[in-house]
Amino acid sequence: MLTNQYTELNYTIYNDESELDEEDLKLIESARKACETSYSPYSGFQVGAALLLENNEVISGSNQENSSYPAGLCAERVALFQAGAGHSQHKIRKIAVTAKKAANEKYIPVTPCGSCRQVMLEYEVKQSSAIEVIMQIADNKWVKTFSTEVLLPFCFNKNAL
Ligand SMILES: [Zn+2]
Repeated sequence: MLTNQYTELNYTIYNDESELDEEDLKLIESARKACETSYSPYSGFQVGAALLLENNEVISGSNQENSSYPAGLCAERVALFQAGAGHSQHKIRKIAVTAKKAANEKYIPVTPCGSCRQVMLEYEVKQSSAIEVIMQIADNKWVKTFSTEVLLPFCFNKNAL
């Protein structure tokens, strides 16, 4: 028998952006604004991420590319490491991730890469509380997960060490 209740119960799909609540929409807007600071001359793929901390502060980041490709960093990790380095006393409640192609005003679907999922999970375990992840998965379709662990089933974390 195939059982995938775990993921089905832990995320919500929204068929229109307007179905998201005001707090989520504001965070998405911050993430979209962060796309403007993307340094992506090689891919032209601008990604913006925004974190909502428990004190309602928003920390955003954008992808930073490098001519030596592995030296660059994704938007999510730019924001998460900034939060970890400067705001460690405040827990992260949510993260929104957005993207667009340079010179195109339309925002496009994007989901975090595997490395960013692992880093999100690390902060979730560190702060002992779930981080919601908000992302666009199709033209007018959004997903909000209850935690980062939903994005990384059977994950490895410090509890295994
Ligand atoms: Zn990434």
